[in-house]
Amino acid sequence: MPSLYIDGSWTTGSAGTAPVVNPYDASTVTEVDQAGPDDVDRAVAAARRAFDDGPWRRTTTGERGALLGRIADLLVRDRERIARLETLDTGKTIAEGRQDVDDVTAVFRYYAGLADKDAGRIVDTGNPAVVSRIVHEPVGVCALITPWNYPLLQLSWKVAPAIAAGNTMVIKPSEVTPLTSIVLVELCEEVGVPAGVVNIVLGDGPSVGAPLTEHPDVDMVSFTGGLSTGQKIIRASAETVKRTAVELGGKNPNIVFADTDFELAVDYVMLAVFLHSGQVCSAGARLIIEDPVADAVVDEVVRRAQLIRLGNGLTDGVEVGPLVSAAHLAKIEDFVAAARAEGAAIRCGGARPDDPDLANGYFYLPTVITDLAPGSRLIREETFGPLLTVERFHTEEEAVRLGNDTEYGLAGAVFTADMGRAHRVASALRHGTVWINDFHPYFPGAEWGGMGRSGNGRELGPTGLAEYQEIKHVWTNTDPQPQGWFSGR
Ligand code: NAD
Repeated sequence: MPSLYIDGSWTTGSAGTAPVVNPYDASTVTEVDQAGPDDVDRAVAAARRAFDDGPWRRTTTGERGALLGRIADLLVRDRERIARLETLDTGKTIAEGRQDVDDVTAVFRYYAGLADKDAGRIVDTGNPAVVSRIVHEPVGVCALITPWNYPLLQLSWKVAPAIAAGNTMVIKPSEVTPLTSIVLVELCEEVGVPAGVVNIVLGDGPSVGAPLTEHPDVDMVSFTGGLSTGQKIIRASAETVKRTAVELGGKNPNIVFADTDFELAVDYVMLAVFLHSGQVCSAGARLIIEDPVADAVVDEVVRRAQLIRLGNGLTDGVEVGPLVSAAHLAKIEDFVAAARAEGAAIRCGGARPDDPDLANGYFYLPTVITDLAPGSRLIREETFGPLLTVERFHTEEEAVRLGNDTEYGLAGAVFTADMGRAHRVASALRHGTVWINDFHPYFPGAEWGGMGRSGNGRELGPTGLAEYQEIKHVWTNTDPQPQGWFSGR
């Protein structure tokens, strides 16, 4: 079946096909069509027509909410199939794949519920003859560009509010992991989203993503991905003054005070960094730990990291899959080589596994690195892999200073039994999300996004809907009288 969807039809692309690779064993899962410049133009034109002239603009918020609710029902119906595809495409475990589909379903249900509750407002002008209305309207044609680590999940944070607000869209998933994005478009078609409202084009960033960001008929770009790509997108959007919402990387501190229960500390340090092989934008890759307990906690993390079961995400009992691609594996190897070169201690991992069953895949061992110099590249740059660095502190002030010592500002955590301290540290941290005695959870009704170079917008929650809305002021004078401003004589 063709894999581009433009103006309500599945179609092949003018740039041939490309393989989708299973990172577990480097086998080809399938081939997908690749869009050429003409396909990008056709998709944008379809979205433009559907926005400017189609029946979509006359749909009510309630009707759009109902569509989102039906998509959620289909996600429940197809949960297992979609979870499996996500595992084949990304290498994540099937348990994570199922969790992703459940989370995506919750996002669609949340925006299904919010769609018709968001009615603008009336402003009191003090003049009873004047009705001043604030109206929420769709932005227009949105380019939705997504990464490979949570392909369906990241896309759902964009598609659901974009539909709720009445936009039309062109989706450009990561070229590495396009499969579940294609499925989501199939579900949109099945529930009756009109032709041209949701389109999908496949291909890499320079040939498909960039033309979307430069296109004069695209009104908004919503992007999730790496910092340098985000910077390119903001620059490219400047020419046509597009609205941009960018969700970028993170270098997230996990601050552990000595009064934290030992088992809790070890367990959460592992979850924070090694989930999905560290390929999580909020990964707790920087352990910042109070000196008196540092040795004991790190020793135990090192012991348990070596017991993590790597393997095929579809196999029961496997805890972590591979990295997503050969290129990403090479990047992780380069980071560890840099750590070695600066004399850091690689306490465990630091290599590919020697298990012959994993030899074809892009596996890397969970790795703990200590004795890095302050300001080391490993502490500053997002690695997006299973690499934990360790820094020690002696005072609360030092913990906060280290936690904020990053150009990013996506997420961070503080673990302590002292709630007063927990809230002091949480309020001092400059990160878009701060967890107290927890790591990773997010919630459809709670905003997600970064400070600093982690981004400029917020997804989820009411703000995640507002990103896809223009705010219009409509002023009605119900009793107009001549003003006599100019005499006319
Ligand atoms: P990436 O920036 O390489 O690619 C992301 C998307 O942008 C892909 O679809 C890619 O094809 C496209 N792209 C590349 N160049 C482009 C260009 N010039 N113009 C337009 N589009 C272009 O990121 P990735 O490697 O796929 O994903 C990993 C990154 O995503 C990490 O930095 C991670 O932290 C970040 N991320 C952030 C969040 C968040 O919520 N803040 C969530 C998930 C991932």
